[in-house]
Amino acid sequence: MTPRTSPAPYFPGHGDDRYHVGHYDLALDYKVGPNRLTGVARLTAVATAPLDTLTLDLYGLRAGRTLVDGKNARHLQRGAKLHVTVPGGMTAGREFTVEIHYSGSPRPVPSHWGGLGWEQLDDGVLVAGQPIGAPSWFPCNDRPGDKATYRIAVTTASPYHVICNGRPAGTRRAASTTTWVYEENTPMATYLASVQIGRYQVEEVGGTTPQVLAYPRHLAARVRRDFGRQGQMLAAFARIFGPYPFASYTVVVTDDELDIPVEAQGMSVFGANHVDGRRGSERLVAHELAHQWFGNSLTLAAWNDIWLHEGFATYAEWLWSESCGEEPAGAHAERWHRRLTAAPRDFALAAPGPHQIFDDRVYRRGALTLHALRRVLGDAAFFALLREWTAANRHGTVTTCGFTTLAARHAGRPLEAFFTAWLHDHLLPPLP
Ligand SMILES: [Zn+2]
Repeated sequence: MTPRTSPAPYFPGHGDDRYHVGHYDLALDYKVGPNRLTGVARLTAVATAPLDTLTLDLYGLRAGRTLVDGKNARHLQRGAKLHVTVPGGMTAGREFTVEIHYSGSPRPVPSHWGGLGWEQLDDGVLVAGQPIGAPSWFPCNDRPGDKATYRIAVTTASPYHVICNGRPAGTRRAASTTTWVYEENTPMATYLASVQIGRYQVEEVGGTTPQVLAYPRHLAARVRRDFGRQGQMLAAFARIFGPYPFASYTVVVTDDELDIPVEAQGMSVFGANHVDGRRGSERLVAHELAHQWFGNSLTLAAWNDIWLHEGFATYAEWLWSESCGEEPAGAHAERWHRRLTAAPRDFALAAPGPHQIFDDRVYRRGALTLHALRRVLGDAAFFALLREWTAANRHGTVTTCGFTTLAARHAGRPLEAFFTAWLHDHLLPPLP
């Protein structure tokens, strides 16, 4: 279909497309009580344009010694931007390292949705970076299309358990502290990088993809019951969407209550209020798990394409319901179509506007669009499309245009009118 002109970036203050970060090496020392963070970030990057200043995102923390390619470099902090002077400048294509020593009391980045990023819990920390919270804890190129690998080492008081993205790569105990090291070798967007600190009991449950549950001891029975079907769910999604994209999946349940669960790469974080011992939030268990494919492996390059995450994760809830013999996806679709018909229609799904990217209507209309597409293509072509979509873009970045083009190929004919109606018009089309 004809690509639409992309809307202006939703968070123009974040990220710099003149360089690409390939790897973040973060060494953090954190004191839970006083909320004191000392960090060293070593970024390996490549310039994609000539640079005499390197601009990073860093919020509320003070940068100290800064080095480019091992040599001291001058820096200037203004607002949430850290400008590092590149001695002698840099040509496009040049690889370089930048090392930033920084410290302070991390606090969430203020936003339309409240504070984002590093957040103190009653007794620990969670990171909820989506969409622009990453600069609250490390200097970064904060744009979702700039994926990198990570090594994250966190030193904190020994009673706490630390969970980050990726594979555990060892712990080291000192007198009263423990250093936890994690390596994420699969490219990851900044907003999906995460540190969870708490007094957690950690349990590994089997399956071809290892699943880890971390929770406060007193919630053990509820957590085991509520996540009891997650292995089955993972197998169902792997059949429907293609192989699970990461090495493992960790669920953290905090002792605090959370408004909504939080997604991170290879990880989801739920609040104590999301576990009731009766699988009352299983819909959310499915939703967060599905984000590992849609959001984390396949990540938008621009936030206006949020339906590629939330529409798919919401449709996954309906598919889970269908695959475990409960209500079929079609029944969910009919019900939500009726509800959305009565709701205000003041945005286009593929460009909802920066303040509406987490609007429930984006989630539901996104899922409805997929169900409508399924009816147009038929099950065989629709599910083949989903599997090709996840395989072709595994660990990459995606756009709406990329999806509609692939869908038309699976349909064997143009779908321009269909996608214009569902993605670009405000009016809700009838379900085919
Ligand atoms: Zn979601």
